[in-house]
Amino acid sequence: MRKRAIILGSTGSIGRSALEVVAALGEEITLVGLAARHRWRDLAEQARRFNVTAVAIAAEAHYDDLRRECPTETRVLAGSEGLVELVRESDADFVLAAIVGAAGLPATLAAVERGIDVGLANKESLVVAGAVLMPLAQERGGALIPVDSEHSAIFQALQAGHRDDVRRIHLTASGGPFRQWAADRIARATLDDALNHPTWSMGPKVTIDSATMMNKALEIIEARWLFGLPAEQIDVLIHPESIVHSMVEFQDGSIIAQLGTPDMKTPIQYALTYPRRVSGIAETLDWSQARTLHFEPPDFERFPALRLGYDAARQGGSSGAVLNAANEAAVEYCRAGAIPVGEIAALTEAVFRRQRLIAQPVLADLLACDAWAREEVSRCMQS
Ligand code: NAD
Ligand code: MG
Repeated sequence: MRKRAIILGSTGSIGRSALEVVAALGEEITLVGLAARHRWRDLAEQARRFNVTAVAIAAEAHYDDLRRECPTETRVLAGSEGLVELVRESDADFVLAAIVGAAGLPATLAAVERGIDVGLANKESLVVAGAVLMPLAQERGGALIPVDSEHSAIFQALQAGHRDDVRRIHLTASGGPFRQWAADRIARATLDDALNHPTWSMGPKVTIDSATMMNKALEIIEARWLFGLPAEQIDVLIHPESIVHSMVEFQDGSIIAQLGTPDMKTPIQYALTYPRRVSGIAETLDWSQARTLHFEPPDFERFPALRLGYDAARQGGSSGAVLNAANEAAVEYCRAGAIPVGEIAALTEAVFRRQRLIAQPVLADLLACDAWAREEVSRCMQS
C-alpha cells in the first residue's frame, strides 16, 4: 500500500485521531505534510515526531514561532496560501481534509485539482462547493473518500450492490444532547448544554451543529453531492446509540448497514487504507454484552435545521454555500455569547430564505455567496 499523506487540520479532533491511526499503521503511511490554524507548538511537536517534509500554519503571525521550533530541514509555510502551496508542491498521494468549516475549501480544492485521493472529513467544503468539486474530481481522477462516519458507512454499504439499484439511503443521527428536550427547553439551552454530546467526542463546531441538527442538514447535502442522489432518496433516522453508522436500502428491500463503536479512528483508517482493510486500533463492539438499538423518525418541528438541509439539497447549485456560511456565522455569534444555541437555526433560516440561487455556479460565485451570507447574518444581528 505505502501512501504518502498530508493531514490538514492535524491539531484538531479528527487530525489527532488520524495521527494515532498513522502511527499504528507504521510503514504503510509516510506523513509528508501537516497543517493547522494557530496551535504552532502542537504542530511543531507533530512535525518533529513524524519527521514530516513540510508544515503550514494558517495564522501567519505564528510563522516565526513555528519556524524556530521545527527542524531546519522542514519546510515551513504560512497563511491560507501556504496551505494550498503545501498541497500543490508536495509529492503526497493522499490528503486528509480535516480542517473545520469553509476555510478548508481552498486546500481541499488544491488536492482535487491535482488528482490526489482525498479523505474528506471537512464536509463543509463539499456542502459549499459540491457543484465544482464533484465534476473536478471526476475529471482529475482522484477519489473522494468520505471520513464522516455516516458517509463512510454509505460508501462501504454501496459496495454490496449496483448504484442503479439503490432505493434510498438512511443517514443515522444520534439526535444530540437535545433529542428528548421540549422546544421551550431547547430555546433556553446554554452553550455548555450544546457542547455536551451524548455519544461522540468531537471539535466544538461540529458538536454545536449536532445539537441543532444542522450537522445532519449539512450531511444530507454532503450525501447529495458525494453519492449523486436526489434529496428524496436521502432519509434521516434518529439512532441514539450511534452504533449503526448508516444504511443503504436497495430496490429488493435489502438494507445493508455498517456498524461499529462511535470512534472516528475507524472511518479515518478506512479512508487511509482503502480499498484494503487492516487491523485497527479502535475498540470493537462487544457482543458478549446484551444491547438494544433504538431507531425513531426525526422531529422537524423541534429541529428546523433539518428542513433547511433538504431544501438546500433539493436546490443544489449555490444553496449549500449560503446555508453553510450563514450557519458558520451564527455559530460564531453563539460561541461569542451573542445569541443562544436555540436561535442558530432561525438566524440561519432568515438569511437562507433571502438567497439568490445560482443554479450552475463557478467557484467565484460560491465564494461570493459565502461572503454575502456572512454579511447578511451580521446585518441581522445589528438590526
Ligand atoms: P476541530 O475544531 O477539533 O479541529 C479543526 C482543525 O482545523 C484544527 O487543526 C484547526 O487548526 C484547523 N483549522 C481551523 N480553521 C482553520 C483555518 N482557517 N485554516 C487552517 N486550519 C484551520 O474540528 P474537528 O472536530 O476535528 O472537525 C474537523 C472536520 O471534520 C469538520 O469539518 C467536521 O465537521 C468534520 N467531522 C468531525 C468529526 C469528529 O468526530 N470530530 C466527525 C465527523 C466529521
Ligand atoms: Mg457525521
